[in-house]
Amino acid sequence: MPASTSSHLSLDRLRSEGQAFMEEITREYYLSTAGLKATAELQPLYEKYAAILSPDALAMTLEAFRAAPEGSEERRQTRILLEWLADSQTGRELAGLEERELAWEASAMIPLPDGSKMQYERTAIEMANSQDRARRLEIEQAKSAVVGAELAPLRQERFQREREIIERLDLADGYNATWELLSGIGIAQLRAQCEQFLKDTQPMWNDTYPEFVKRVLGIDPDDAHRSDALALFRAREFDTAFPARDMERQVQRQVREMGIDPLAAGRIRVDTAEREGKRSRAFCAPVRIPEEVYLVLRPHGGQTDWSTYLHELGHALHFAYMRPDHPYEYRWLGDNSVTESYAMLFDHHMDDAGWLKRYTELGESKVRAFQRNAGFEELHYLRRYCAKFVYETHLYGGDTRWQSLPDLYVDLLTTATNFKYSPAEAFVDVDPRYYSARYLRAWQLQALLRETLTERYDMDWWRNPRAGPWLVQSLFSEGQRELAHEQARRVASGGVELSFAPLVRSVERLLA
Ligand SMILES: [Zn+2]
Repeated sequence: MPASTSSHLSLDRLRSEGQAFMEEITREYYLSTAGLKATAELQPLYEKYAAILSPDALAMTLEAFRAAPEGSEERRQTRILLEWLADSQTGRELAGLEERELAWEASAMIPLPDGSKMQYERTAIEMANSQDRARRLEIEQAKSAVVGAELAPLRQERFQREREIIERLDLADGYNATWELLSGIGIAQLRAQCEQFLKDTQPMWNDTYPEFVKRVLGIDPDDAHRSDALALFRAREFDTAFPARDMERQVQRQVREMGIDPLAAGRIRVDTAEREGKRSRAFCAPVRIPEEVYLVLRPHGGQTDWSTYLHELGHALHFAYMRPDHPYEYRWLGDNSVTESYAMLFDHHMDDAGWLKRYTELGESKVRAFQRNAGFEELHYLRRYCAKFVYETHLYGGDTRWQSLPDLYVDLLTTATNFKYSPAEAFVDVDPRYYSARYLRAWQLQALLRETLTERYDMDWWRNPRAGPWLVQSLFSEGQRELAHEQARRVASGGVELSFAPLVRSVERLLA
């Protein structure tokens, strides 16, 4: 009998071939998004590994999951494997659509009123960099028209099919209940926290929003669009303090000062080369965990560039310092709120006065103004993500008709941020499979970790040579064995639950 038949399936085979599959697929993403390969060919990989991604594999894992005692390690492992297989089932069935999406994004051109054309991939950067408001709105409008006509239908189909595929698995009652079962995360609880956060921070938002929009953009706060938000948060007034030439050197110095080798003995490979087809946003691709982790970026300098680099470095360090003897599912899978929290732990250095003074050229006189900006930006993104998550619970929950979703999207996002959103983005500005929930929980965990690190290693924990080894041993090495809320209980003193409270405290401090 050929080895690929389901009669030879076992959890161990899932682990070994699952890892091989993930390595190949991540390499494919890395090569195509780094500009080293023209297109990502995903479908052949799904075919090659069809046996371990089959409905039979899912059924076998489901059986093992149901047989494992509640609270056991086995239960934890089989839940994570089950979540992965459900995701892979979806991924395999949506691979064709996803390839079309990626190809569209890489090649789409936006016709502008002056007769010129702009690459779709460039539009966000161009809007953020344009100090000419009319030009920003022109790009925004032209982009919305093309996205609404071409990308939005692809994305809507993607989410419709995703919901059908997950519901067809018949693991629980509907998409949301299935996601909760597989992820171990409660949707209703997080959604209630988000709604409460939006309410609690409304006065703070009302106080700061008009001030920043008027001062930085010089426009009427009641008439600001999303493209204005991009320009506002581009925050170029401080960019000279964050030169491209110093970025890697200063950040690596800081990581060494906290007692961590920033390249993890060569396991982290930094790709800074300029190359056609290379994505402008930095990203991290763990091709083999922990042995081969790519940190890919195109340094152009400025605040956003530093912040993205720090974020991706946090991911890279997490992957490169995982225990090699941990099972596949703890290194490759699990609750991504955890890896996102380490990424955010690093990008939030940009809020820290001491860190800014030591590693950037910002200087004492500008730190306060910079921090107020950072507080405003943080509050904006938190409010945006809370609204996004609430919207996505409707998109996936099935309580709202597809054709009503664009209006709901505009209403929720515009109310939370004051910036006018376009209905064309309603299926584009969605993080598939509730990744927004991972970000929100990561934000909460990150703020808690910072308070914990400050308690243990003082205000300047980021240069305390004892802090790095603690991070590596207590957090990074564990991979994603724990859920973010379990980790919060273990690491923070006094059995703390994840919440927005430490984030509200930090935003209040920044805006004070
Ligand atoms: Zn991330």
